[in-house]
Amino acid sequence: MNYFKGKTHEELKRYQNELKQKLDRYKGMGLNLNMARGKPCKEQLDLSNGMINGTVDYSINIDYRNYGLLDGIPEAKALFAQGMNVSEQELIIGGNSSLNLMYDTLVRTLLFGTVDSKKPWKDYDKIKFLCPAPGYDRHFGICEDLGIEMILIPMTSEGPDMDQVEALVRDDETIKGIWCIPKYSNPTGITYSDEVVDRLASMECAAKDFRIMWDNAYNIHHLNNNGDELKDLLEACKKNNHANRVYMFSSTSKVTFPGSGIAVMAMSEENADDIRKHMGYQTIGSNKINQLMHVRFLPTTDAIEAHMMKHAEILEPKFNKVLEVMEREIGAYNIAKWNNPNGGYFINLDVMDGCAKSVVKCCAEHGVTLTPAGATFPYGKDPKDSNIRIAPTFPPLYELELAIEVLTTCIQYVTIEKLLQL
Ligand code: PMP
Repeated sequence: MNYFKGKTHEELKRYQNELKQKLDRYKGMGLNLNMARGKPCKEQLDLSNGMINGTVDYSINIDYRNYGLLDGIPEAKALFAQGMNVSEQELIIGGNSSLNLMYDTLVRTLLFGTVDSKKPWKDYDKIKFLCPAPGYDRHFGICEDLGIEMILIPMTSEGPDMDQVEALVRDDETIKGIWCIPKYSNPTGITYSDEVVDRLASMECAAKDFRIMWDNAYNIHHLNNNGDELKDLLEACKKNNHANRVYMFSSTSKVTFPGSGIAVMAMSEENADDIRKHMGYQTIGSNKINQLMHVRFLPTTDAIEAHMMKHAEILEPKFNKVLEVMEREIGAYNIAKWNNPNGGYFINLDVMDGCAKSVVKCCAEHGVTLTPAGATFPYGKDPKDSNIRIAPTFPPLYELELAIEVLTTCIQYVTIEKLLQL
């Protein structure tokens, strides 16, 4: 039970006063700590300096300094095809951002439909997407921007609530897709179970052009040697005769340099050919020099794995620090729940219902910036107002400890405030 619920009004008031004094001391320190976004820290970025320091021998058989190679240079295609377990024909290398590929993919389906569509998606009065939440705010932002209605699907410890997903897609032809972050999900940190992958691959959809936006942003971003395994969705879709159902995305944003990495898309060859056809009008090709720099710096999947272990060595102590301070400060009180992921960029925190916004506000007033409460839900609205995303990667370790002390003090303060109101 919530520890504070067993206390009298006077006891709560007294303890809240002590917390207020502690918070005033933090305010006096003039802190400016930011944990709002999952950005790599400077030490992580330094790991990839070798990529831009060395001179790049630009030409192999083809002169990569010139136009051409719409969907990527052969060395990069071979490497990513191996990493994503697809053929090179099933792969497209894009520009610097997977989010950009996702946005373009949806714009294309709105304008032209897919290879399985009766008509472009824009020709429906309304189309809808399933949005497992908590999820990634920028996915939801794309839907809002493009006028795609969002339906909230609760997340479980194994992935989206598949009973709800199956019931909804079975009868409604205007439900055209679902957002998924299947590995070390942003922000819940979970990896989809084999059963969820199989159900996504085999479910009956009223929309023959239903698409799964499989954003595998954290596929190789383990924090320890206990990495999660994710079942291959494209393979499962092929087995169920739904090969075109999935678009898979990934990027090196959190491998090398965010914003200057390379993004990739994998899918059935039929889907890939369709996209290449439209892409051919959009561009003559992406940045091949950047692709070449990447494959020279990280030429094999083994080299990538070794590189990711260096990231883990920097990140694991940060995640452990957050968990240690949370446990030390509020572990005994049963007033919040948080997870301990094996990878990814976030720790998911749930505070008492109705308290998340106030906790984030309290933190901001005391010098700690968190992701806005609600951002992890469609339309920015967390129905329970309980979810908070912690992004421990960017701040140095000593700042992180202080930031989590402020956070845990705010959680206690706001929880007591709520109980006193009740
Ligand atoms: N997808 C998810 C789930 C993410 O968390 C992020 C980065 N925060 C991105 C995509 C962005 O990827 P990119 O830099 O390749 O656009």
